[in-house]
Amino acid sequence: MDDFVKVKKIAQKCLKCKHPTCVKHCPVGNHIPEILSAIEQENIAQAKKLLLETTNASFICAKLCDVQRQCYGHCVLRNTDKGSVAFYEVEAYLAELIQAQDYVCHDNHGQRVAIIGAGLAGISAAIDLAQHGYHVEIFEKREKIGGVITDTLPDFRFSEGAIEKYEILLDTLGVQIHYGKEWGRNLTIEDLDDFLYILFALGAGVSKRNFPSSPFVYDGMEVLRALKQKRILFEHKSVLVIGGGNVAMDVARALKRMNNEVKIVYRRTMDQAPASQIEIAHAKNEGIIMEECLSPVEPIYHKESLMGLLVEQTKLVEEPTKGRKNFQKTGLTSVISADVIVEAIGLEPEYTVLRQLVPALFDEEGWVQSEGVARYKDKTLLVIGDYLLGASSFAQAVASSKQAVKKVVDG
Ligand SMILES: Cc1cc2nc3c(=O)[nH]c(=O)nc-3n(C[C@H](O)[C@H](O)[C@H](O)COP(=O)(O)OP(=O)(O)OC[C@H]3O[C@@H](n4cnc5c(N)ncnc54)[C@H](O)[C@@H]3O)c2cc1C
Repeated sequence: MDDFVKVKKIAQKCLKCKHPTCVKHCPVGNHIPEILSAIEQENIAQAKKLLLETTNASFICAKLCDVQRQCYGHCVLRNTDKGSVAFYEVEAYLAELIQAQDYVCHDNHGQRVAIIGAGLAGISAAIDLAQHGYHVEIFEKREKIGGVITDTLPDFRFSEGAIEKYEILLDTLGVQIHYGKEWGRNLTIEDLDDFLYILFALGAGVSKRNFPSSPFVYDGMEVLRALKQKRILFEHKSVLVIGGGNVAMDVARALKRMNNEVKIVYRRTMDQAPASQIEIAHAKNEGIIMEECLSPVEPIYHKESLMGLLVEQTKLVEEPTKGRKNFQKTGLTSVISADVIVEAIGLEPEYTVLRQLVPALFDEEGWVQSEGVARYKDKTLLVIGDYLLGASSFAQAVASSKQAVKKVVDG
């Protein structure tokens, strides 16, 4: 079937609800019914225009959003014979058609904005601000833009040139990018004296750890980053991956492809895991074993070798105030044998330098205040993306950039 015929069929299925729950559950609030109406009327220009009003990250979000928890999973048709409207397929179709000239730009008024970090949050904010006529410069510690997409996400998840499209777009919009510039190392607030606004978009790249690294115990992010650079840390091993999030699924699936036997150890059941259920299903289909309701205690060594992981069985308990069940330890322990353990138990931002500079930006528990805005001398500092939210999602990172851009534009 021709691609347009396919997306038109999807658009025709939509009931164009007056109070659409799909939009409510889309972090950027895409105008889903209106876009689908435009598609139905074969008005592609209008559909693209509507999409660009809420997002400049369609070619990433259409492929990588957890749609079961967002638009698709909240479509009113989900429990009917028709099934949910697959807006993400329409978004992917439109993303292919969007060109640099579709981004409407105001005249440059010269106000200067610095953005530190060129992940999706930083890129998205840079595009929006350049469109609003700001002079934008990005400072990125690595040699390429894209953040997690470029340096961590396995190629089998996403490898479609999205970052190259962004490079072209940023260049077209006049955004300057300074590579090899690391906040806290060779980039300080004094270097940014010319800028009235500074956006911090450094992501959440620091892994939480229970066990120290060793030749038998690895950090999941370290494994993914190595594989992205085509470095193989180990293969033909029996591997236990600890965790139930996106990183755990990606690590397990990537290691399976390196001829390892892989099990995932998670302290709840997989239906309670933060990873998308689609990723979990892929992992299971690829032969990854799920060891559920097991809490890691410690690696077990014999002489110089790893024998396995001591785990304690858990049971799940309802927690009405939280979105998912909690777990309780039962005292029953056992050992799962393994050659290698990989921890993927969460990520957090690194705030040391920023906290020293602007203590008022942080609450008592050390997190950035929910607004993520502070003044420093004549400057406004704004925190965006995972650096504000902790490990979140591409769509949430873009949504937080949009909010920060609005604050800049509104003054
Ligand atoms: C393995 C993995 C899989 C994921 N899968 C999904 C998924 O399928 N769907 C989904 O929605 N989300 C997923 N996520 C989450 C998603 O990747 C993040 O929410 C998103 O990347 C956040 O964007 P960001 O720009 O805030 O941060 P990042 O993408 O982390 O970008 C931060 C940027 O800042 C730069 N930087 C860091 N420190 C400094 C410094 N000191 N100075 C200068 N620059 C610096 C970094 O090099 C990087 O370019 C996944 C995350 C991981 C780790």
